Amino acid sequence: MLLNSFPRVPLAHLPTPLELLPNLTKHLGGPEIWVKRDDCTGLATGGNKTRKLEFSMGEAVAKGADTIITVGAVQSNHVRQTAAAACKLGMKCEVLLEHRVADPSELYRTSGNVLLDRIFGANLREYDKGTDFDAAMESVADEVRANGGAPYIIPGGASNTVGALGYVGCGEELLQQFDEQKLKIDHIVTATGSAGTHGGLVVGLRASGSDLPILGIGVNAPQDVQEERVFDLACETAELVGKPGCVSRDDIVADCNYIGPGYGEPTDGMNEAVLMLARQEGLLFDPVYSGKALAGMIDHIRNGTFSTDERIVFLHTGGAAGLFAYADTLVL
Ligand SMILES: *Cc1c(COP(=O)(O)O)cnc(C)c1O
Repeated sequence: MLLNSFPRVPLAHLPTPLELLPNLTKHLGGPEIWVKRDDCTGLATGGNKTRKLEFSMGEAVAKGADTIITVGAVQSNHVRQTAAAACKLGMKCEVLLEHRVADPSELYRTSGNVLLDRIFGANLREYDKGTDFDAAMESVADEVRANGGAPYIIPGGASNTVGALGYVGCGEELLQQFDEQKLKIDHIVTATGSAGTHGGLVVGLRASGSDLPILGIGVNAPQDVQEERVFDLACETAELVGKPGCVSRDDIVADCNYIGPGYGEPTDGMNEAVLMLARQEGLLFDPVYSGKALAGMIDHIRNGTFSTDERIVFLHTGGAAGLFAYADTLVL
Protein backbone atom coordinates (compact mmCIF):
# COMPACT_ATOMS: atom_id res chain seq x y z
CA MET A 1 0.00 0.00 0.00
CA LEU A 2 1.35 3.37 -1.09
CA LEU A 3 -0.93 5.46 1.10
CA ASN A 4 -0.71 4.09 4.63
CA SER A 5 1.47 6.85 6.05
CA PHE A 6 -0.73 9.83 5.10
CA PRO A 7 -3.34 11.49 7.34
CA ARG A 8 -6.77 10.52 6.03
CA VAL A 9 -10.39 10.88 7.09
CA PRO A 10 -13.04 8.45 5.83
CA LEU A 11 -15.52 10.31 3.60
CA ALA A 12 -16.05 8.06 0.56
CA HIS A 13 -17.91 4.79 0.08
CA LEU A 14 -15.10 2.57 -1.18
CA PRO A 15 -14.52 0.59 -3.27
CA THR A 16 -16.87 2.16 -5.82
CA PRO A 17 -18.53 -0.35 -8.18
CA LEU A 18 -17.02 -1.38 -11.51
CA GLU A 19 -19.88 -2.20 -13.89
CA LEU A 20 -20.35 -3.41 -17.46
CA LEU A 21 -22.46 -1.16 -19.74
CA PRO A 22 -24.03 -3.82 -21.99
CA ASN A 23 -26.53 -1.58 -23.77
CA LEU A 24 -24.01 1.13 -24.59
CA THR A 25 -21.51 -1.49 -25.75
CA LYS A 26 -24.13 -2.91 -28.14
CA HIS A 27 -25.37 0.52 -29.21
CA LEU A 28 -21.90 1.72 -30.24
CA GLY A 29 -20.76 -1.62 -31.67
CA GLY A 30 -17.17 -1.07 -30.54
CA PRO A 31 -15.13 -2.23 -27.55
CA GLU A 32 -16.69 -3.62 -24.39
CA ILE A 33 -17.38 -0.59 -22.17
CA TRP A 34 -17.19 -0.66 -18.38
CA VAL A 35 -17.75 2.20 -15.96
CA LYS A 36 -15.96 2.89 -12.68
CA ARG A 37 -18.65 4.47 -10.52
CA ASP A 38 -16.84 7.31 -8.74
CA ASP A 39 -20.13 9.16 -9.02
CA CYS A 40 -21.09 6.81 -6.14
CA THR A 41 -18.50 8.00 -3.60
CA GLY A 42 -21.48 8.92 -1.45
CA LEU A 43 -20.78 12.41 -0.09
CA ALA A 44 -23.39 15.02 -1.07
CA THR A 45 -24.34 13.19 -4.32
CA GLY A 46 -20.80 11.93 -4.81
CA GLY A 47 -18.03 12.55 -7.31
CA ASN A 48 -14.28 12.38 -7.71
CA LYS A 49 -13.38 15.15 -5.25
CA THR A 50 -14.45 13.02 -2.30
CA ARG A 51 -11.50 10.62 -2.75
CA LYS A 52 -9.12 13.60 -2.82
CA LEU A 53 -10.77 15.26 0.17
CA GLU A 54 -10.09 12.20 2.34
CA PHE A 55 -6.43 13.28 2.21
CA SER A 56 -6.88 17.08 2.00
CA MET A 57 -9.24 17.08 4.98
CA GLY A 58 -7.01 14.54 6.71
CA GLU A 59 -4.17 17.05 6.56
CA ALA A 60 -6.48 19.89 7.64
CA VAL A 61 -7.51 17.90 10.74
CA ALA A 62 -3.89 16.95 11.46
CA LYS A 63 -2.96 20.65 11.35
CA GLY A 64 -5.76 21.66 13.71
CA ALA A 65 -7.75 23.67 11.17
CA ASP A 66 -11.29 24.84 11.93
CA THR A 67 -12.03 26.63 8.64
CA ILE A 68 -11.55 25.32 5.10
CA ILE A 69 -10.95 27.80 2.29
CA THR A 70 -11.30 26.68 -1.32
CA VAL A 71 -12.06 27.88 -4.84
CA GLY A 72 -13.97 26.75 -7.91
CA ALA A 73 -16.15 27.81 -10.81
CA VAL A 74 -19.70 28.83 -9.82
CA GLN A 75 -21.00 25.29 -10.57
CA SER A 76 -18.00 23.57 -8.97
CA ASN A 77 -18.56 19.99 -7.87
CA HIS A 78 -15.35 20.27 -5.84
CA VAL A 79 -16.77 23.16 -3.81
CA ARG A 80 -19.99 21.22 -3.15
CA GLN A 81 -18.12 18.15 -1.87
CA THR A 82 -15.73 20.30 0.18
CA ALA A 83 -18.63 22.19 1.78
CA ALA A 84 -20.21 18.86 2.77
CA ALA A 85 -16.93 17.43 4.09
CA ALA A 86 -16.42 20.56 6.22
CA CYS A 87 -19.88 20.05 7.75
CA LYS A 88 -19.14 16.41 8.52
CA LEU A 89 -15.90 17.37 10.27
CA GLY A 90 -17.42 20.31 12.17
CA MET A 91 -15.50 22.98 10.27
CA LYS A 92 -16.53 26.23 8.59
CA CYS A 93 -16.16 26.58 4.84
CA GLU A 94 -15.17 29.79 3.01
CA VAL A 95 -15.67 29.50 -0.74
CA LEU A 96 -14.33 31.69 -3.55
CA LEU A 97 -16.46 31.24 -6.67
CA GLU A 98 -15.01 32.29 -10.03
CA HIS A 99 -17.31 33.63 -12.75
CA ARG A 100 -15.59 31.45 -15.36
CA VAL A 101 -18.57 31.03 -17.72
CA ALA A 102 -19.73 34.04 -19.78
CA ASP A 103 -23.37 35.23 -19.53
CA PRO A 104 -24.49 32.75 -16.88
CA SER A 105 -28.21 32.09 -16.66
CA GLU A 106 -30.22 32.54 -13.48
CA LEU A 107 -30.26 28.75 -13.05
CA TYR A 108 -26.48 28.54 -13.48
CA ARG A 109 -25.97 31.13 -10.76
CA THR A 110 -28.41 29.71 -8.23
CA SER A 111 -29.32 26.07 -8.86
CA GLY A 112 -27.39 22.79 -8.99
CA ASN A 113 -24.19 22.89 -6.98
CA VAL A 114 -24.77 26.47 -5.76
CA LEU A 115 -28.01 25.43 -4.08
CA LEU A 116 -26.21 22.53 -2.40
CA ASP A 117 -23.31 24.77 -1.27
CA ARG A 118 -25.86 27.01 0.40
CA ILE A 119 -27.67 24.07 2.01
CA PHE A 120 -24.31 23.08 3.53
CA GLY A 121 -23.98 26.59 4.92
CA ALA A 122 -20.78 27.48 3.07
CA ASN A 123 -19.95 31.19 2.94
CA LEU A 124 -19.88 32.02 -0.78
CA ARG A 125 -17.91 34.97 -2.20
CA GLU A 126 -17.93 35.75 -5.91
CA TYR A 127 -14.96 36.86 -8.01
CA ASP A 128 -14.26 37.85 -11.61
CA LYS A 129 -12.76 35.39 -14.07
CA GLY A 130 -8.97 35.46 -13.97
CA THR A 131 -8.65 36.66 -10.36
CA ASP A 132 -5.36 35.70 -8.66
CA PHE A 133 -6.93 33.07 -6.43
CA ASP A 134 -3.75 32.14 -4.55
CA ALA A 135 -3.59 35.72 -3.33
CA ALA A 136 -7.34 35.96 -2.79
CA MET A 137 -7.38 32.77 -0.68
CA GLU A 138 -4.40 34.03 1.37
CA SER A 139 -6.30 37.20 2.12
CA VAL A 140 -9.37 35.21 3.22
CA ALA A 141 -7.01 33.13 5.41
CA ASP A 142 -5.69 36.35 7.01
CA GLU A 143 -9.27 37.38 7.69
CA VAL A 144 -10.05 34.02 9.31
CA ARG A 145 -6.92 34.25 11.51
CA ALA A 146 -7.77 37.84 12.49
CA ASN A 147 -11.09 36.48 13.78
CA GLY A 148 -9.33 33.80 15.84
CA GLY A 149 -9.83 30.92 13.37
CA ALA A 150 -7.39 28.35 12.01
CA PRO A 151 -7.65 28.27 8.20
CA TYR A 152 -6.60 25.51 5.82
CA ILE A 153 -6.49 26.21 2.07
CA ILE A 154 -7.45 23.53 -0.45
CA PRO A 155 -6.55 24.52 -4.03
CA GLY A 156 -9.04 24.31 -6.91
CA GLY A 157 -10.19 20.73 -7.50
CA ALA A 158 -8.03 19.64 -4.52
CA SER A 159 -5.44 19.12 -7.24
CA ASN A 160 -2.20 19.30 -5.34
CA THR A 161 -0.12 16.25 -4.40
CA VAL A 162 -2.10 15.64 -1.22
CA GLY A 163 -5.42 15.55 -3.09
CA ALA A 164 -3.97 13.46 -5.92
CA LEU A 165 -3.30 10.72 -3.35
CA GLY A 166 -7.02 9.96 -3.59
CA TYR A 167 -6.54 8.90 -7.20
CA VAL A 168 -3.38 6.97 -6.44
CA GLY A 169 -5.76 4.98 -4.27
CA CYS A 170 -8.29 4.69 -7.10
CA GLY A 171 -5.57 3.26 -9.35
CA GLU A 172 -4.75 0.60 -6.75
CA GLU A 173 -8.46 -0.11 -6.25
CA LEU A 174 -9.02 -0.59 -9.99
CA LEU A 175 -6.10 -3.02 -10.31
CA GLN A 176 -7.51 -5.04 -7.44
CA GLN A 177 -10.97 -5.11 -9.06
CA PHE A 178 -9.54 -6.17 -12.44
CA ASP A 179 -7.73 -8.95 -10.63
CA GLU A 180 -10.73 -10.12 -8.58
CA GLN A 181 -13.10 -9.99 -11.56
CA LYS A 182 -10.46 -11.56 -13.85
CA LEU A 183 -10.81 -8.70 -16.34
CA LYS A 184 -8.21 -7.78 -18.88
CA ILE A 185 -8.60 -4.04 -19.50
CA ASP A 186 -6.98 -2.29 -22.46
CA HIS A 187 -7.66 1.42 -21.80
CA ILE A 188 -8.98 3.78 -19.16
CA VAL A 189 -10.74 6.98 -20.24
CA THR A 190 -11.31 9.90 -17.87
CA ALA A 191 -12.12 13.60 -17.87
CA THR A 192 -9.06 15.71 -17.08
CA GLY A 193 -9.40 19.21 -15.62
CA SER A 194 -7.34 20.47 -12.69
CA ALA A 195 -5.25 17.30 -13.19
CA GLY A 196 -5.38 15.58 -9.80
CA THR A 197 -7.59 12.76 -11.01
CA HIS A 198 -5.56 11.98 -14.13
CA GLY A 199 -2.19 12.58 -12.44
CA GLY A 200 -3.01 10.54 -9.34
CA LEU A 201 -4.43 7.67 -11.38
CA VAL A 202 -1.31 7.41 -13.53
CA VAL A 203 0.83 7.23 -10.40
CA GLY A 204 -1.43 4.62 -8.79
CA LEU A 205 -1.10 2.38 -11.86
CA ARG A 206 2.59 2.90 -12.67
CA ALA A 207 3.74 2.69 -9.05
CA SER A 208 1.91 -0.67 -8.88
CA GLY A 209 3.66 -1.94 -12.01
CA SER A 210 0.75 -1.53 -14.45
CA ASP A 211 1.39 -0.01 -17.88
CA LEU A 212 -2.34 0.33 -18.71
CA PRO A 213 -2.85 3.38 -20.98
CA ILE A 214 -5.00 6.26 -19.75
CA LEU A 215 -6.67 8.67 -22.16
CA GLY A 216 -7.61 11.98 -20.57
CA ILE A 217 -10.28 14.06 -22.29
CA GLY A 218 -9.65 17.73 -21.59
CA VAL A 219 -12.40 20.12 -20.52
CA ASN A 220 -10.51 23.37 -20.16
CA ALA A 221 -6.93 23.88 -21.36
CA PRO A 222 -5.23 23.11 -24.70
CA GLN A 223 -3.44 19.76 -25.03
CA ASP A 224 0.16 20.89 -24.40
CA VAL A 225 -0.81 22.86 -21.30
CA GLN A 226 -3.01 20.06 -19.97
CA GLU A 227 -0.44 17.31 -20.49
CA GLU A 228 2.31 19.37 -18.81
CA ARG A 229 0.03 20.12 -15.88
CA VAL A 230 -0.83 16.44 -15.41
CA PHE A 231 2.78 15.33 -15.87
CA ASP A 232 4.14 17.85 -13.33
CA LEU A 233 1.57 16.86 -10.72
CA ALA A 234 2.11 13.15 -11.40
CA CYS A 235 5.89 13.51 -10.93
CA GLU A 236 5.47 15.37 -7.64
CA THR A 237 2.88 12.87 -6.44
CA ALA A 238 5.13 9.94 -7.38
CA GLU A 239 7.83 11.46 -5.19
CA LEU A 240 5.40 11.95 -2.33
CA VAL A 241 4.48 8.24 -2.35
CA GLY A 242 8.13 7.19 -2.54
CA LYS A 243 8.12 6.11 -6.20
CA PRO A 244 10.00 8.95 -7.92
CA GLY A 245 10.37 8.54 -11.65
CA CYS A 246 7.65 5.91 -12.03
CA VAL A 247 5.76 8.08 -14.54
CA SER A 248 7.24 9.05 -17.90
CA ARG A 249 6.10 11.89 -20.14
CA ASP A 250 4.67 9.39 -22.66
CA ASP A 251 2.31 8.06 -20.02
CA ILE A 252 0.38 11.34 -20.12
CA VAL A 253 -2.04 11.63 -23.03
CA ALA A 254 -4.79 14.26 -23.20
CA ASP A 255 -7.16 14.85 -26.10
CA CYS A 256 -8.52 18.39 -25.79
CA ASN A 257 -10.68 18.45 -28.93
CA TYR A 258 -14.03 18.18 -27.14
CA ILE A 259 -14.02 21.43 -25.12
CA GLY A 260 -16.13 23.35 -27.66
CA PRO A 261 -16.40 27.12 -27.07
CA GLY A 262 -14.88 26.87 -23.59
CA TYR A 263 -14.97 25.51 -20.05
CA GLY A 264 -18.53 24.85 -18.93
CA GLU A 265 -19.99 25.81 -22.32
CA PRO A 266 -22.38 23.17 -23.69
CA THR A 267 -21.50 21.24 -26.86
CA ASP A 268 -23.63 19.06 -29.15
CA GLY A 269 -21.37 16.09 -28.37
CA MET A 270 -21.89 16.54 -24.62
CA ASN A 271 -25.64 16.85 -25.11
CA GLU A 272 -25.73 13.66 -27.18
CA ALA A 273 -23.54 11.78 -24.69
CA VAL A 274 -25.59 12.78 -21.64
CA LEU A 275 -28.81 11.65 -23.32
CA MET A 276 -27.23 8.45 -24.70
CA LEU A 277 -25.99 7.27 -21.30
CA ALA A 278 -29.25 8.21 -19.63
CA ARG A 279 -31.42 6.46 -22.22
CA GLN A 280 -29.22 3.42 -22.81
CA GLU A 281 -28.07 2.75 -19.25
CA GLY A 282 -30.14 4.88 -16.86
CA LEU A 283 -27.00 6.74 -15.78
CA LEU A 284 -26.53 10.46 -15.15
CA PHE A 285 -23.43 12.34 -16.28
CA ASP A 286 -22.67 16.07 -16.15
CA PRO A 287 -22.44 18.88 -18.72
CA VAL A 288 -19.01 20.25 -17.74
CA TYR A 289 -16.73 17.24 -17.25
CA SER A 290 -18.02 13.68 -17.58
CA GLY A 291 -20.42 14.54 -20.43
CA LYS A 292 -17.63 16.08 -22.52
CA ALA A 293 -15.28 13.22 -21.64
CA LEU A 294 -17.95 10.76 -22.79
CA ALA A 295 -18.39 12.73 -26.01
CA GLY A 296 -14.66 12.19 -26.57
CA MET A 297 -14.87 8.49 -25.77
CA ILE A 298 -17.86 8.00 -28.09
CA ASP A 299 -16.07 9.82 -30.90
CA HIS A 300 -12.94 7.69 -30.41
CA ILE A 301 -15.10 4.54 -30.53
CA ARG A 302 -16.77 5.70 -33.74
CA ASN A 303 -13.36 6.48 -35.25
CA GLY A 304 -12.05 3.03 -34.39
CA THR A 305 -9.39 4.09 -31.84
CA PHE A 306 -10.45 1.10 -29.74
CA SER A 307 -11.09 -2.20 -31.51
CA THR A 308 -14.10 -4.46 -30.92
CA ASP A 309 -12.03 -7.07 -29.09
CA GLU A 310 -10.80 -4.54 -26.55
CA ARG A 311 -12.24 -3.67 -23.16
CA ILE A 312 -12.26 -0.08 -21.86
CA VAL A 313 -13.16 1.51 -18.54
CA PHE A 314 -14.69 4.98 -18.36
CA LEU A 315 -14.02 6.62 -15.01
CA HIS A 316 -17.29 8.31 -14.01
CA THR A 317 -16.17 11.33 -12.00
CA GLY A 318 -19.71 12.41 -11.04
CA GLY A 319 -21.16 15.90 -11.35
CA ALA A 320 -24.82 15.18 -12.12
CA ALA A 321 -25.86 17.85 -9.59
CA GLY A 322 -24.69 20.34 -12.23
CA LEU A 323 -27.37 19.15 -14.68
CA PHE A 324 -29.99 21.25 -12.91
CA ALA A 325 -27.99 24.40 -13.60
CA TYR A 326 -28.05 23.54 -17.31
CA ALA A 327 -31.77 22.71 -17.48
CA ASP A 328 -32.45 25.52 -19.94
CA THR A 329 -29.48 24.78 -22.24
CA LEU A 330 -29.76 21.01 -22.66
CA VAL A 331 -31.66 19.97 -25.79
CA LEU A 332 -33.89 17.06 -24.81
C1 LIG B 1 -13.39 18.09 -10.98
C2 LIG B 1 -14.08 17.17 -11.88
C3 LIG B 1 -13.40 16.47 -12.89
C4 LIG B 1 -11.96 16.71 -13.22
O1 LIG B 1 -11.09 16.20 -12.25
P1 LIG B 1 -9.69 16.92 -12.04
O2 LIG B 1 -9.05 16.17 -10.96
O3 LIG B 1 -10.00 18.35 -11.70
O4 LIG B 1 -8.94 16.84 -13.32
C5 LIG B 1 -14.08 15.57 -13.67
N1 LIG B 1 -15.40 15.35 -13.47
C6 LIG B 1 -16.10 15.99 -12.53
C7 LIG B 1 -17.55 15.71 -12.42
C8 LIG B 1 -15.47 16.91 -11.69
O5 LIG B 1 -16.18 17.55 -10.76
